[in-house]
Amino acid sequence: MRTEALVLRAIDFGESDRVLHLLTPAAGRLTAIAKGARRSVKRFAGSLDVLNRVRIEVAPRRRAAAMARLEQARLVHWHPGLRERPGRFALACYLAELFDRLAPEGAAPREAAALYDFGLRALALIERAEPDPRLRVLIELRALDALGLRPELERCVRCGREPEAFHVPEGGAVCGACALRSEGVVRVQRGTLRALGQALRLDLENLDRLGLGGVALAESRDLVDRFQRFHVGIELRSAPVLGVLGLGGGSG
Ligand SMILES: [Zn+2]
Repeated sequence: MRTEALVLRAIDFGESDRVLHLLTPAAGRLTAIAKGARRSVKRFAGSLDVLNRVRIEVAPRRRAAAMARLEQARLVHWHPGLRERPGRFALACYLAELFDRLAPEGAAPREAAALYDFGLRALALIERAEPDPRLRVLIELRALDALGLRPELERCVRCGREPEAFHVPEGGAVCGACALRSEGVVRVQRGTLRALGQALRLDLENLDRLGLGGVALAESRDLVDRFQRFHVGIELRSAPVLGVLGLGGGSG
């Protein structure tokens, strides 16, 4: 198979091999081993680093349990802008880890292509952005949406009325009356829900123009954290780094 890929994770293995976690537009997430990757300049040309966009050739798997074998890789784009600033790099790595954990393996072509497209556009956005806690929470929300976890924010998930709170287990907003009858509800200002709803509708390229300050930012951070903890249920290794760099919580 020949396709493109984003390198989500690269792990040195044995003497000279490298195991790659890739996101591809053809098959979603794919794990492949590059034999002799750290020796063969000819076949891999130093292209197999995290966040690189590459063209790859993968040999068909001989056994169902075997790892796919990467025959060749050529660098398409190494996202230099991401590597210029610690905040950009950390945010991009966080996104890559989210995809590595949640993107489906062997996804249907349309779904895989849409995810891949999101991945490229999100990296392009981060590459030119000034990362801050606002961008981090907005892009995280969009990534969860792209991965099939889209919270309902426009209306009460139970009765359709104007929402005033967020129901974490149901993954959606609820009105005041429904909130009273529910467990696991977080009070949120309407303005916060409206802003996050808008963040889901905006073209990704314009996401960093969305204002989100003070209370709305704090509430958004809290809401996305709780939503993610409940529905994803994993701690991401790269989250504490974002905290250290002042890009918001999420480390637990
Ligand atoms: Zn309701």
